[in-house]
Amino acid sequence: MGIVVQKYGGSSVADAESIKRVARRIVETKKAGNQVVVVVSAMGDTTDELIDLANEVSPLPAARELDMLLTAGERISMAVLAMAINDLGHEARSFTGSQAGVITDAEHGRAKIIDVTPGRIEAALADGAIAIVAGFQGVSQTTKDITTLGRGGSDTTAVALAVALRADVCEIYSDVDGIFSADPRIEPRARKVDRISYEETLEMAAQGAKILHLRCVEYARRYDMPIHVRSSFSEKEGTWVVKAEDVTKDGTMEAAIITGVAHDRSQAKITVVGVPDKPGEAAAIFRAVADAAINIDMIVQNVSAAATSLTDVSFTLPRGEGQTAMSALDKLKATVGYESLQYDDSVGKVSIVGAGMSSSPGISARFFEALSDAGVNIEMISTSEIRVSVVVAESQVEDAVRAAHAAFDLGSDEVEAVVYGGTGR
Ligand code: ASP
Ligand code: MG
Repeated sequence: MGIVVQKYGGSSVADAESIKRVARRIVETKKAGNQVVVVVSAMGDTTDELIDLANEVSPLPAARELDMLLTAGERISMAVLAMAINDLGHEARSFTGSQAGVITDAEHGRAKIIDVTPGRIEAALADGAIAIVAGFQGVSQTTKDITTLGRGGSDTTAVALAVALRADVCEIYSDVDGIFSADPRIEPRARKVDRISYEETLEMAAQGAKILHLRCVEYARRYDMPIHVRSSFSEKEGTWVVKAEDVTKDGTMEAAIITGVAHDRSQAKITVVGVPDKPGEAAAIFRAVADAAINIDMIVQNVSAAATSLTDVSFTLPRGEGQTAMSALDKLKATVGYESLQYDDSVGKVSIVGAGMSSSPGISARFFEALSDAGVNIEMISTSEIRVSVVVAESQVEDAVRAAHAAFDLGSDEVEAVVYGGTGR
């Protein structure tokens, strides 16, 4: 008998009807001969509503109390889901993250899992019960306080439990049928990817594709836990996230050159204009940004104009940090001696990702030609071994996604993608 860990996102358990539907699905999995552990997210938009509530009560809620509040969302789902399963004649027992043995550090709001000791889950399974675990939460090893893993953290709970229980698979259910070659809301011909490597999934997720929590993929890769991303609204086979060697195992094809196109509208661009071209200037600029605890992404430094020996340095960063970065840089104006700062938050990033690109020449050229044919201007470029990303005007993101998708023949002949719930989670 194998162990299956299933995780249901907020859109799959949004109301009483959905909870009963999910309960039937869980019971089917059990009846098929599996031991089943289920991780649930908070119902629908509960987490956002709880955050709003906290902010109405207090302008700066204490991190410990905010975690206590937010974990209540998942506790509601786990209890009602267990009730629904019990009504179908199967025993279900719900557990908080702490009861399930999810041990974390003490960083409220972004705790890291340091150990999983799922004794009570194993005992429930041994008794023939279905175990339901509240996602996105744990307990600090040092303070014994309740912690949360950060938004979207239930995916990570599920993978961590799957690893600790030596499960056969971790199934992640949302309201889309799997991972698509592009966001189906932009490219209706997006194709469902049958198999994708951990590395490609990490790149897709890091480049803005809202498929899986980045940390959960890192965790799965580290312990080689296969993830099956699928919809709770259909019976269709979803996307398998597996190690690179296993991507082509059952197929006849070689690894696809390009697996998908990701886009991200959450970034802004800062340009430091007229930086003196001498050692130490870039260091000073990025030290200031780093000291403000801002994560930057792409960096471009232009060749300095011979006449002035001044150069422009541009970089991208999360939009939410734009003003902090601008004021940190403002303080450097006299010491660095740059001319001015420019801030642009109407930019977007479009990336092509594929493990096969490292061994095929001409991928960037094909990508850039497609963008040029679509009239899209490239503002910045960055690459990794399996990715090429460009920054473009935000108004051109959708054109760029469609152009890239077409250039690499990623489209399917039929419309495959169905978004059942509407949130994509
Ligand atoms: N309910 C939490 C959130 O909305 C955790 C999760 O859904 O994974 O972020
Ligand atoms: Mg959620």
